[in-house]
Amino acid sequence: ERLVSAAIQNEDNDLETSLRPKKLNEYIGQQKAKETISIFIEAARQRREPLDHVLLFGPPGLGKTTLSNIIANEMGVNIRTTSGPAIERQGDLAAILTNLSEGDVLFIDEIHRLSRAVEEILYPAMEDFALDIVLGKGPGARSIRLDLPKFTLIGATTRAGMLASPLRDRFGIISRLEFYQPEDLTRIILRAATILTVTIDPSGAEEIARRSRGTPRIANRLLKRVRDFAQVRAQGEITSDVAARALEFFEVDPLGLDHSDRTLLLAVIEKFNGGPVGLDTIAAAISEETETVEDVLEPFLMQLGFLSRTPRGRIVTPAAYKHLGIPVKMEETG
Ligand code: ADP
Repeated sequence: ERLVSAAIQNEDNDLETSLRPKKLNEYIGQQKAKETISIFIEAARQRREPLDHVLLFGPPGLGKTTLSNIIANEMGVNIRTTSGPAIERQGDLAAILTNLSEGDVLFIDEIHRLSRAVEEILYPAMEDFALDIVLGKGPGARSIRLDLPKFTLIGATTRAGMLASPLRDRFGIISRLEFYQPEDLTRIILRAATILTVTIDPSGAEEIARRSRGTPRIANRLLKRVRDFAQVRAQGEITSDVAARALEFFEVDPLGLDHSDRTLLLAVIEKFNGGPVGLDTIAAAISEETETVEDVLEPFLMQLGFLSRTPRGRIVTPAAYKHLGIPVKMEETG
């Protein structure tokens, strides 16, 4: 597994539970999302009503699950957690909904992966807090309506564009999480280091932050690895030099690129003269799934400005050539 993958890995689980902030004021960065949500929480509390349904979107590892738990905590209600792929049939969702209490939060991760049939149950539940149940089959079938407790649905998705618009339209609050700035990641690392009682100096935290791809999940994981390295090779203290040496050892470069990123960029440069080249062609050239290239590899390279998307395909930018130490030899693309 990639050390710098934003997807959750087995080894992350315990760590994430212990590091997850519980209150909105401990949730670092994401000013815009935080402000929006705190206003709505405050208003709902004053009216003594459940919070409106919330859709959180953004790449994996940025804090969607964490924020959902914080919202429930700040509202003083319980949270029930599930995911799109886990709800296979209408009955699965009906069972979850009928077990909620007034005001509860239902968190559905990867909500874009719900089936159409399950989504249909969700619409009246979100809108009218009602569950329509069809009894019988054929001409004799009739439907009855059950009242549900008023609850708050929080949906999380990596791609808002993949959500059917009738579903998207039923969320009153839509918030987008952004990649974190290095300063925010530095604070997240220093906070985690305190909880894990790791000795680290601020410049050590900055070094890890710069290589964490704007993603807290990766920052926490790198901190853990660097801690091990520091313990065995450097008397346990994480300075910027120790962090840099450790991450070089783990093949995470100064901008957080790893072997997979370099393979992709080099393939486009060497095999396709820097592009433009289609997504499927890139995937085939590096023996990856198209979806992996699009969801996992590309977003960060685009965020860095190393790869750009044009109508004719992907292009590696001069900044990427420079970072890789390769002279630019680009054709005019206009
Ligand atoms: P997502 O649901 O978007 O994939 P998570 O909420 O699981 O991401 O976040 C991954 C980990 O990153 C969390 O366990 C938490 O430790 C850390 N984290 C995320 N966002 C923040 C934040 N704003 N402040 C501090 N730690 C954070």
